[in-house]
Amino acid sequence: MSFYDIYQEAKNIDFEQHWQSVTDNDILRILTKERLDAADYLTLLSPRAADFLEPMAQRAHRLTVQHFGHTMLLYTPMYLANHCANHCLYCSFSALNKLKRKKLSLAQVEEEAKAIAATGLKHILILTGESPAHSPVSYIADCVGVLKKYFDSISIEVYPLSTEEYAQLVAVGVDGLTIYQEVYDEEMYKHLHPRGPKRDYRYRLDAPERGCKAKMRTVNVGALLGLEDWRKEAFFTGLHADYLQNKYLDTEIGISVPRIRPNVGGFSPKVDVTDRHLVQIILAYRLFMPRAGIAVSTRERAELRNHLIKLGVTKMSAGVTTEVGGHSEKDSAEGTGQFEISDNRGVDEIKQMLLSQGYQPVFKDWQCIDGEMPGESV
Ligand code: SF4
Repeated sequence: MSFYDIYQEAKNIDFEQHWQSVTDNDILRILTKERLDAADYLTLLSPRAADFLEPMAQRAHRLTVQHFGHTMLLYTPMYLANHCANHCLYCSFSALNKLKRKKLSLAQVEEEAKAIAATGLKHILILTGESPAHSPVSYIADCVGVLKKYFDSISIEVYPLSTEEYAQLVAVGVDGLTIYQEVYDEEMYKHLHPRGPKRDYRYRLDAPERGCKAKMRTVNVGALLGLEDWRKEAFFTGLHADYLQNKYLDTEIGISVPRIRPNVGGFSPKVDVTDRHLVQIILAYRLFMPRAGIAVSTRERAELRNHLIKLGVTKMSAGVTTEVGGHSEKDSAEGTGQFEISDNRGVDEIKQMLLSQGYQPVFKDWQCIDGEMPGESV
Protein backbone atom coordinates (compact mmCIF):
# COMPACT_ATOMS: atom_id res chain seq x y z
CA MET A 1 0.00 0.00 0.00
CA SER A 2 1.16 3.53 -0.71
CA PHE A 3 -0.46 6.94 -0.48
CA TYR A 4 -1.76 6.39 -4.02
CA ASP A 5 -4.35 3.95 -2.62
CA ILE A 6 -5.53 6.54 -0.14
CA TYR A 7 -5.70 9.17 -2.88
CA GLN A 8 -7.75 6.80 -5.05
CA GLU A 9 -10.37 6.56 -2.30
CA ALA A 10 -10.25 10.19 -1.25
CA LYS A 11 -10.73 11.57 -4.75
CA ASN A 12 -14.19 9.96 -4.87
CA ILE A 13 -15.44 11.88 -1.84
CA ASP A 14 -18.39 14.10 -2.71
CA PHE A 15 -16.58 17.24 -1.61
CA GLU A 16 -19.34 19.68 -2.53
CA GLN A 17 -21.97 17.67 -0.72
CA HIS A 18 -19.78 17.46 2.40
CA TRP A 19 -19.05 21.17 2.44
CA GLN A 20 -22.66 22.16 1.81
CA SER A 21 -23.80 20.06 4.76
CA VAL A 22 -21.36 21.68 7.23
CA THR A 23 -23.07 23.63 10.03
CA ASP A 24 -21.71 26.15 12.52
CA ASN A 25 -22.18 23.54 15.23
CA ASP A 26 -20.01 21.06 13.33
CA ILE A 27 -17.16 23.54 13.37
CA LEU A 28 -17.65 24.53 17.02
CA ARG A 29 -17.67 20.83 17.99
CA ILE A 30 -14.44 20.18 16.07
CA LEU A 31 -12.78 23.12 17.81
CA THR A 32 -13.27 21.37 21.16
CA LYS A 33 -11.96 17.95 20.03
CA GLU A 34 -8.64 16.65 21.29
CA ARG A 35 -7.74 14.85 18.05
CA LEU A 36 -9.13 15.58 14.61
CA ASP A 37 -9.79 12.96 11.97
CA ALA A 38 -9.69 13.42 8.20
CA ALA A 39 -13.40 14.30 8.04
CA ASP A 40 -12.87 17.06 10.62
CA TYR A 41 -9.97 18.40 8.58
CA LEU A 42 -12.13 18.45 5.47
CA THR A 43 -14.80 20.33 7.42
CA LEU A 44 -12.27 22.98 8.49
CA LEU A 45 -11.44 23.54 4.83
CA SER A 46 -15.11 24.26 4.01
CA PRO A 47 -16.44 27.65 2.93
CA ARG A 48 -18.46 27.83 6.15
CA ALA A 49 -15.32 27.40 8.29
CA ALA A 50 -14.04 30.67 6.78
CA ASP A 51 -16.34 32.43 9.28
CA PHE A 52 -14.41 30.82 12.15
CA LEU A 53 -10.87 31.88 11.35
CA GLU A 54 -10.44 33.75 14.64
CA PRO A 55 -11.23 30.82 16.98
CA MET A 56 -9.27 28.52 14.67
CA ALA A 57 -6.32 30.92 14.88
CA GLN A 58 -6.41 30.97 18.68
CA ARG A 59 -6.38 27.17 18.85
CA ALA A 60 -3.68 26.91 16.17
CA HIS A 61 -1.50 29.37 18.05
CA ARG A 62 -1.89 27.47 21.33
CA LEU A 63 -1.03 24.14 19.69
CA THR A 64 1.98 25.59 17.91
CA VAL A 65 3.39 27.13 21.08
CA GLN A 66 2.74 23.85 22.93
CA HIS A 67 4.76 21.83 20.41
CA PHE A 68 7.33 24.31 19.09
CA GLY A 69 7.53 27.14 21.63
CA HIS A 70 7.98 30.69 20.33
CA THR A 71 10.56 29.68 17.74
CA MET A 72 11.02 29.98 14.00
CA LEU A 73 13.57 27.92 12.11
CA LEU A 74 15.32 29.91 9.38
CA TYR A 75 16.83 28.52 6.19
CA THR A 76 17.60 29.66 2.70
CA PRO A 77 17.48 27.98 -0.70
CA MET A 78 20.55 27.66 -2.91
CA TYR A 79 19.97 26.99 -6.61
CA LEU A 80 22.70 24.76 -8.00
CA ALA A 81 21.38 24.59 -11.55
CA ASN A 82 18.36 25.48 -13.65
CA HIS A 83 18.60 22.90 -16.43
CA CYS A 84 15.35 21.00 -16.72
CA ALA A 85 14.01 18.22 -18.94
CA ASN A 86 10.35 18.91 -18.16
CA HIS A 87 7.70 21.15 -19.65
CA CYS A 88 5.73 22.18 -16.57
CA LEU A 89 3.40 24.90 -17.81
CA TYR A 90 3.79 27.03 -14.64
CA CYS A 91 7.59 27.19 -14.19
CA SER A 92 10.32 29.41 -15.63
CA PHE A 93 12.73 26.46 -15.74
CA SER A 94 10.54 24.59 -18.27
CA ALA A 95 12.69 23.19 -21.09
CA LEU A 96 10.54 25.23 -23.51
CA ASN A 97 11.41 28.60 -21.98
CA LYS A 98 14.26 30.69 -23.30
CA LEU A 99 16.17 31.15 -20.09
CA LYS A 100 19.84 31.53 -19.41
CA ARG A 101 20.84 28.03 -18.28
CA LYS A 102 23.48 27.64 -15.66
CA LYS A 103 25.02 25.08 -13.35
CA LEU A 104 27.42 25.94 -10.54
CA SER A 105 30.92 24.48 -10.45
CA LEU A 106 32.08 23.18 -7.07
CA ALA A 107 34.17 26.33 -6.67
CA GLN A 108 31.06 28.43 -7.28
CA VAL A 109 29.10 26.32 -4.80
CA GLU A 110 31.77 27.15 -2.24
CA GLU A 111 31.45 30.88 -2.99
CA GLU A 112 27.68 30.64 -2.52
CA ALA A 113 28.18 28.72 0.70
CA LYS A 114 30.54 31.37 2.07
CA ALA A 115 28.12 34.17 1.23
CA ILE A 116 25.18 32.41 2.90
CA ALA A 117 27.18 31.23 5.91
CA ALA A 118 28.26 34.86 6.53
CA THR A 119 24.60 35.65 7.33
CA GLY A 120 24.64 33.10 10.15
CA LEU A 121 22.30 30.56 8.56
CA LYS A 122 23.07 26.92 9.30
CA HIS A 123 20.20 25.24 7.44
CA ILE A 124 20.22 25.16 3.67
CA LEU A 125 17.92 23.79 0.98
CA ILE A 126 19.64 22.97 -2.32
CA LEU A 127 17.68 22.92 -5.56
CA THR A 128 18.24 21.92 -9.13
CA GLY A 129 15.94 21.83 -12.12
CA GLU A 130 14.88 18.29 -12.97
CA SER A 131 17.67 17.20 -15.27
CA PRO A 132 19.49 14.07 -14.16
CA ALA A 133 21.76 14.51 -17.19
CA HIS A 134 23.00 17.95 -16.05
CA SER A 135 22.66 17.45 -12.30
CA PRO A 136 23.17 13.74 -11.60
CA VAL A 137 23.05 12.35 -8.07
CA SER A 138 26.87 12.26 -8.08
CA TYR A 139 26.96 16.04 -8.73
CA ILE A 140 24.47 16.70 -5.92
CA ALA A 141 26.58 14.51 -3.61
CA ASP A 142 29.74 16.42 -4.56
CA CYS A 143 28.00 19.73 -3.79
CA VAL A 144 26.88 18.36 -0.42
CA GLY A 145 30.52 17.51 0.28
CA VAL A 146 31.40 21.20 -0.13
CA LEU A 147 28.35 22.50 1.73
CA LYS A 148 28.92 20.29 4.77
CA LYS A 149 31.87 22.48 5.70
CA TYR A 150 29.52 25.45 6.14
CA PHE A 151 26.09 24.12 7.15
CA ASP A 152 24.73 21.75 9.79
CA SER A 153 21.57 20.75 7.96
CA ILE A 154 21.32 20.20 4.22
CA SER A 155 17.97 19.51 2.56
CA ILE A 156 17.33 18.78 -1.09
CA GLU A 157 14.58 19.84 -3.47
CA VAL A 158 15.48 17.96 -6.64
CA TYR A 159 13.86 15.52 -9.08
CA PRO A 160 12.33 12.38 -7.55
CA LEU A 161 14.92 9.71 -6.75
CA SER A 162 14.83 6.02 -5.97
CA THR A 163 15.11 4.91 -2.34
CA GLU A 164 18.70 3.86 -3.01
CA GLU A 165 19.58 7.26 -4.46
CA TYR A 166 18.02 9.06 -1.51
CA ALA A 167 20.00 6.75 0.79
CA GLN A 168 23.21 7.65 -1.09
CA LEU A 169 22.56 11.32 -0.39
CA VAL A 170 21.68 10.64 3.26
CA ALA A 171 25.00 8.81 3.54
CA VAL A 172 26.94 11.89 2.38
CA GLY A 173 25.12 14.28 4.72
CA VAL A 174 21.66 15.20 3.37
CA ASP A 175 19.08 15.09 6.15
CA GLY A 176 15.98 16.67 4.63
CA LEU A 177 13.78 16.22 1.58
CA THR A 178 11.26 18.66 0.14
CA ILE A 179 9.22 17.44 -2.78
CA TYR A 180 5.94 18.96 -3.89
CA GLN A 181 3.38 16.96 -5.78
CA GLU A 182 2.51 20.34 -7.40
CA VAL A 183 -1.06 19.15 -8.04
CA TYR A 184 -2.67 16.04 -6.53
CA ASP A 185 -5.54 15.93 -9.03
CA GLU A 186 -4.24 13.26 -11.41
CA GLU A 187 -5.99 14.58 -14.53
CA MET A 188 -4.77 18.12 -13.97
CA TYR A 189 -1.30 16.73 -13.26
CA LYS A 190 -1.20 15.17 -16.73
CA HIS A 191 -2.39 18.41 -18.30
CA LEU A 192 0.21 20.58 -16.54
CA HIS A 193 3.09 18.20 -17.27
CA PRO A 194 2.74 17.53 -20.99
CA ARG A 195 6.28 16.24 -21.58
CA GLY A 196 9.29 14.95 -19.69
CA PRO A 197 9.88 12.36 -16.97
CA LYS A 198 7.76 14.34 -14.54
CA ARG A 199 4.66 13.05 -16.34
CA ASP A 200 4.96 9.95 -14.15
CA TYR A 201 2.43 10.97 -11.49
CA ARG A 202 2.87 7.88 -9.38
CA TYR A 203 6.67 8.03 -9.25
CA ARG A 204 6.48 11.57 -7.91
CA LEU A 205 3.65 10.85 -5.49
CA ASP A 206 5.62 8.03 -3.87
CA ALA A 207 8.89 10.01 -3.68
CA PRO A 208 8.31 11.40 -0.15
CA GLU A 209 7.71 7.85 1.08
CA ARG A 210 10.94 6.67 -0.58
CA GLY A 211 12.70 9.52 1.24
CA CYS A 212 11.27 8.28 4.55
CA LYS A 213 12.42 4.73 3.76
CA ALA A 214 15.90 6.11 3.03
CA LYS A 215 15.93 7.61 6.56
CA MET A 216 15.64 11.27 5.72
CA ARG A 217 15.28 13.11 9.03
CA THR A 218 12.71 15.56 7.63
CA VAL A 219 10.34 15.26 4.68
CA ASN A 220 8.18 18.14 3.45
CA VAL A 221 5.26 17.73 1.07
CA GLY A 222 3.06 20.32 -0.59
CA ALA A 223 0.77 21.33 -3.42
CA LEU A 224 1.47 24.37 -5.57
CA LEU A 225 -1.61 26.38 -4.68
CA GLY A 226 -3.47 27.86 -7.62
CA LEU A 227 -3.23 24.91 -10.00
CA GLU A 228 -6.53 23.30 -8.88
CA ASP A 229 -9.32 23.73 -6.32
CA TRP A 230 -7.28 24.71 -3.25
CA ARG A 231 -9.67 23.11 -0.76
CA LYS A 232 -9.23 19.68 -2.34
CA GLU A 233 -5.51 20.13 -2.90
CA ALA A 234 -5.01 21.17 0.75
CA PHE A 235 -7.05 18.14 1.82
CA PHE A 236 -4.95 15.70 -0.22
CA THR A 237 -1.74 17.34 1.05
CA GLY A 238 -2.87 16.92 4.65
CA LEU A 239 -3.83 13.30 4.04
CA HIS A 240 -0.42 12.68 2.49
CA ALA A 241 1.43 14.26 5.45
CA ASP A 242 -0.75 12.33 7.92
CA TYR A 243 -0.13 9.04 6.09
CA LEU A 244 3.65 9.58 6.26
CA GLN A 245 3.64 10.76 9.87
CA ASN A 246 1.72 7.70 11.03
CA LYS A 247 3.88 5.26 9.06
CA TYR A 248 7.38 6.71 9.52
CA LEU A 249 7.68 7.64 13.16
CA ASP A 250 11.36 8.58 13.02
CA THR A 251 10.90 11.14 10.23
CA GLU A 252 9.63 14.65 10.90
CA ILE A 253 6.89 15.37 8.40
CA GLY A 254 5.97 18.90 7.39
CA ILE A 255 4.06 20.74 4.71
CA SER A 256 4.74 23.81 2.66
CA VAL A 257 2.03 26.07 1.29
CA PRO A 258 3.53 27.62 -1.86
CA ARG A 259 1.25 29.83 -3.95
CA ILE A 260 2.05 30.12 -7.61
CA ARG A 261 4.16 33.17 -8.55
CA PRO A 262 4.82 35.09 -11.78
CA ASN A 263 7.25 33.17 -13.99
CA VAL A 264 8.86 33.21 -17.41
CA GLY A 265 6.22 31.84 -19.78
CA GLY A 266 3.39 33.91 -18.28
CA PHE A 267 1.25 31.03 -16.98
CA SER A 268 -2.02 32.20 -15.38
CA PRO A 269 -3.19 30.14 -12.41
CA LYS A 270 -6.59 28.50 -12.72
CA VAL A 271 -7.60 29.29 -9.16
CA ASP A 272 -7.19 32.51 -7.18
CA VAL A 273 -5.92 31.58 -3.72
CA THR A 274 -6.41 34.67 -1.56
CA ASP A 275 -4.61 35.54 1.67
CA ARG A 276 -7.66 34.43 3.65
CA HIS A 277 -7.67 31.10 1.83
CA LEU A 278 -3.99 30.63 2.66
CA VAL A 279 -4.69 31.42 6.32
CA GLN A 280 -7.55 28.91 6.39
CA ILE A 281 -5.30 26.20 4.95
CA ILE A 282 -2.57 26.84 7.53
CA LEU A 283 -5.02 26.88 10.44
CA ALA A 284 -6.89 23.75 9.34
CA TYR A 285 -3.63 21.91 8.83
CA ARG A 286 -2.24 22.95 12.23
CA LEU A 287 -5.40 21.76 13.98
CA PHE A 288 -5.28 18.45 12.08
CA MET A 289 -1.56 17.83 12.64
CA PRO A 290 -0.41 19.68 15.77
CA ARG A 291 3.16 18.28 15.73
CA ALA A 292 3.94 18.84 12.04
CA GLY A 293 6.09 21.64 10.69
CA ILE A 294 4.64 24.31 8.40
CA ALA A 295 6.98 26.23 6.08
CA VAL A 296 6.24 29.55 4.40
CA SER A 297 8.59 30.85 1.74
CA THR A 298 9.34 34.29 0.33
CA ARG A 299 6.72 33.67 -2.34
CA GLU A 300 4.57 35.53 0.22
CA ARG A 301 5.02 39.24 0.86
CA ALA A 302 6.64 40.55 4.03
CA GLU A 303 3.49 41.92 5.68
CA LEU A 304 1.63 38.63 5.28
CA ARG A 305 4.59 36.56 6.49
CA ASN A 306 4.81 38.73 9.62
CA HIS A 307 1.14 38.03 10.27
CA LEU A 308 1.40 34.26 9.66
CA ILE A 309 4.04 33.76 12.36
CA LYS A 310 1.50 33.43 15.17
CA LEU A 311 -0.85 31.20 13.18
CA GLY A 312 1.13 27.97 13.07
CA VAL A 313 4.15 28.51 10.84
CA THR A 314 7.37 26.97 12.18
CA LYS A 315 9.86 27.44 9.37
CA MET A 316 10.67 30.41 7.13
CA SER A 317 13.12 31.16 4.39
CA ALA A 318 15.21 34.32 4.64
CA GLY A 319 17.70 36.17 2.45
CA VAL A 320 16.32 34.43 -0.61
CA THR A 321 17.24 34.44 -4.28
CA THR A 322 15.89 31.96 -6.82
CA GLU A 323 18.75 32.76 -9.23
CA VAL A 324 21.50 30.20 -9.80
CA GLY A 325 24.53 31.65 -8.02
CA GLY A 326 22.38 34.53 -6.78
CA HIS A 327 23.88 34.70 -3.29
CA SER A 328 27.44 35.38 -4.36
CA GLU A 329 27.30 36.87 -7.87
CA LYS A 330 24.07 38.81 -8.03
CA ASP A 331 24.67 40.62 -11.33
CA SER A 332 25.86 37.79 -13.51
CA ALA A 333 23.15 35.42 -12.24
CA GLU A 334 20.21 37.65 -13.21
CA GLY A 335 17.71 36.02 -15.52
CA THR A 336 18.22 32.49 -14.28
CA GLY A 337 15.54 32.53 -11.57
CA GLN A 338 12.63 30.12 -11.11
CA PHE A 339 10.02 32.70 -10.08
CA GLU A 340 9.74 36.17 -8.59
CA ILE A 341 9.92 36.44 -4.83
CA SER A 342 7.81 38.83 -2.71
CA ASP A 343 9.79 39.20 0.49
CA ASN A 344 13.27 40.53 -0.23
CA ARG A 345 14.34 41.00 3.37
CA GLY A 346 17.77 39.85 4.45
CA VAL A 347 18.45 37.43 7.29
CA ASP A 348 19.08 40.23 9.83
CA GLU A 349 15.80 41.94 9.01
CA ILE A 350 13.85 38.70 9.42
CA LYS A 351 15.69 38.04 12.67
CA GLN A 352 14.79 41.49 14.06
CA MET A 353 11.18 41.10 12.97
CA LEU A 354 10.89 37.76 14.77
CA LEU A 355 12.46 39.14 17.94
CA SER A 356 10.06 42.10 17.88
CA GLN A 357 7.17 39.59 17.89
CA GLY A 358 8.64 37.69 20.84
CA TYR A 359 9.89 34.81 18.68
CA GLN A 360 13.32 33.24 18.78
CA PRO A 361 14.95 32.95 15.35
CA VAL A 362 16.54 29.49 15.25
CA PHE A 363 19.58 29.15 13.01
CA LYS A 364 20.37 25.59 13.95
CA ASP A 365 18.32 22.81 15.50
CA TRP A 366 20.26 19.86 14.15
CA GLN A 367 23.78 18.63 13.67
CA CYS A 368 24.78 15.33 12.16
CA ILE A 369 27.83 14.04 14.03
CA ASP A 370 30.31 12.33 11.72
CA GLY A 371 29.70 8.61 11.56
CA GLU A 372 26.11 8.89 12.73
CA MET A 373 23.56 9.19 10.01
CA PRO A 374 19.94 10.23 10.56
CA GLY A 375 17.81 7.30 11.68
CA GLU A 376 20.68 5.27 13.12
CA SER A 377 20.29 4.21 16.69
CA VAL A 378 22.98 5.42 19.06
S1 SF4 B 1 8.69 22.75 -11.79
FE1 SF4 B 1 10.55 21.57 -11.62
S2 SF4 B 1 10.38 20.03 -13.20
FE2 SF4 B 1 8.90 21.61 -13.71
S3 SF4 B 1 9.98 22.97 -15.12
FE3 SF4 B 1 10.24 23.78 -13.03
S4 SF4 B 1 12.16 22.92 -12.35
FE4 SF4 B 1 11.51 21.72 -14.12
